Amino acid sequence: MELIRFGDVQVSTLIEREGPQRKTRELFPTADPGRARQHFREMEPFLYQPASDRVYNTYQSFLLRTPRRTILIDTCVGENKARPPQFAGYPKKPWLDALAAEGLSFSDIDLVICTHLHVDHVGWNTILVDGRWQPTFPKAKYLFGRVECEYWEEQAKLGYDLPGRIWTDSCLPLIHAGRAELVEMDADLGDGMRLRPAPGHSPGMFCVDVALGGDRRLLFIADVMHHPIQCRELDWSTCFCADPVQAAATRRELFSEIADADVIVFPEHVPFPTAGRIESDNGRFRYRFVSPWWRTS
Ligand SMILES: [Zn+2]
Repeated sequence: MELIRFGDVQVSTLIEREGPQRKTRELFPTADPGRARQHFREMEPFLYQPASDRVYNTYQSFLLRTPRRTILIDTCVGENKARPPQFAGYPKKPWLDALAAEGLSFSDIDLVICTHLHVDHVGWNTILVDGRWQPTFPKAKYLFGRVECEYWEEQAKLGYDLPGRIWTDSCLPLIHAGRAELVEMDADLGDGMRLRPAPGHSPGMFCVDVALGGDRRLLFIADVMHHPIQCRELDWSTCFCADPVQAAATRRELFSEIADADVIVFPEHVPFPTAGRIESDNGRFRYRFVSPWWRTS
C-alpha cells in the first residue's frame, strides 16, 4: 500500500500485523497514566483503545523504490520461525500478499536494510526451504549494522534465547551465504542515501536518510519512536529499549534537528498512514500524519 510518492521515488508499506497490543504501562514502564490518557485524548482514534488501555502497534516493512533500486527496509517477523505467541486479537495480515500487490516477487528486491536485529525487523530475511534457512530475496544484498551484529552474535554465544534463535535463523544464514554486508551506523549508501546512528533502543540501531533534492528528506526512523505519544513525552522509552536513557537522548536529538523541516519520517510501529512530520510545540513535539493520498511532483 503506497504511503507517499515524490516524483520517481515511492514508499509503500507491507503490513504484517496491526491493532491494539500492549497496555500503556507495559509498553512504556515509566509512563504517568493520567498524563498518558490526556495525550491520547488529543490524538487520532486509531492510536489508542481507551476501553482496554491498549496502544495500537504495527509490524511493517517499508518498500522504497528509486529509479535505480527496489529496497526493503526491515522485514517483520516472517513465517515458520519458533517465536513466542503473539497477543490474542493482535490481527495478522498477509505480508506476502502485500508484496505481490506491489507487483513484486522475491527476485525484484535489490537491497534489504535491517535497521536493527530485533525479532520484528529481520523475519522475512530468510525462508525455510527443504529444512534449511535460505535467503528469501535471491538477488538482494542485505545490509546489517556491524555494531548490531557483534552484539547479537555475543548474545547468541552466551546462550540467550530468543536473541540466539533470531541471530541463527534470520541473520547468520545470510552471512554464511556471503549475502550480508556489515556496515557502520553512518555509512554512505550512494544515491543520496545514508545511515544515521540511533543507538539506545538497541546498541547499533540506525535510521535511513534519503535526500530528495532541495531540503526535502525521507527519514526511516526505525524504533526511535514506537508511538506518537513519545513526541509529547520524550523520556518514555519502551520496555524493549536496551538503554532507555540513551534511547530518549537519541529521540530528543533527532526530533530537535528535524522538527518543522521538510522531512517525512517513517516510524516502523506507528499505524497506517504512518508517515508524518515532527512539529515543535512549546518545548515538546507533535506528530502530524501526512495523508497517504497526498502527492507532489
Ligand atoms: Zn520493532
